[in-house]
Formats: sequence, C-alpha cells, structure tokens
Amino acid sequence: MALGKDYATQECSIARALEIVGERWTLLVVRDALYGVRRYNDFLVHLGIPRAVLAARLQTLTAEGILEKRRYQQSPPRDEYVPTGRALALWPTLRALGLWGREHFDEPRLRWFRHADCGTELGPNGECPACGVVVPVADVLMEPGPGLDPDPADPVSRALLRPKRLLEPLDVEAA
Ligand SMILES: [Zn+2]
Repeated sequence: MALGKDYATQECSIARALEIVGERWTLLVVRDALYGVRRYNDFLVHLGIPRAVLAARLQTLTAEGILEKRRYQQSPPRDEYVPTGRALALWPTLRALGLWGREHFDEPRLRWFRHADCGTELGPNGECPACGVVVPVADVLMEPGPGLDPDPADPVSRALLRPKRLLEPLDVEAA
C-alpha cells in the first residue's frame, strides 16, 4: 500500500501541523529563514538539497503563509523569502527540538542562543531565565559553539560563524 500524503484519519492538531512542517527539509528551510537566509541560492548551498525539492518546499511555505516572497531586484527578477509571523511562531518548537536532539542523542553544542540584552542563554522555550521574559525572536543572539566546524566549505555556513541576531538578513558576501 502506498504511503498516504496526509494524515486524513487523524483528528489532531499535531497531525495538521505535520502536514505542513513534517515533510523532509521543511523545518530546516524555516530554521535557515530564522537564521537570516533569504535567497534561493543561499538556501540551496547551505542545505545541499536538490533544486526541485527546495523549490517545492519554498512553494509550500509561501502558500501556507510561513514565508513571504519579496522581489528585491527587477532585472533580472530575483525574489527573497522573508519569514512571517507564522515562521516566528515556530521558533520555540525549533529551539526545543534542537535541545531535545542534543540532550538525547549526544550531539555536541553547535550554537549558543542568548538574550541579546543581557547575554544569558535562552531556556528551553526561548525564555530568558535572568530577565524572566519570553525573548522576541529578533532579540535572540546566535553565536557559534565549540562543536561547529570552524572552517566550513560553503559561504552561508561561513557567514553563520559570525555572531548575529536571528532574522537579521545574512550578509553572505562579507563572509
Ligand atoms: Zn535577559
């Protein structure tokens, strides 16, 4: 029997969410968008996925209102993909998923996520334990951790070695 494309028999909001973000690569595209990746070629080199798969994922994410396509150049026409409120709302899920992976599968620490105002590492749900606030995504400072390759091959990974705030567009050329 062929594997169904959706969870039609499931009356469950987790299943509803997974119909959108449960496809392979989708959450990693959202992750990259929150890290400040906006351009098709930058997603492509950072994720190392087939073009057709990336195009399909960007199409779904745009259609579901998670990324917004914006033209940044007229000739030749070039678009970038900007995270919407729906993408920002996935940040605590991505944060919790990353911690879960590290704690249960012995992953090394790849990045630090801190409250930009005070430098404290975020708690498991994106809160700042020192300030007692849920930190807005734009106020999260991302820094490389000891487990991250210090000399990656692709320019997007190199650009992501510099401490930066989430959502701030990634300056790949300067890397
Ligand atoms: Zn704080």
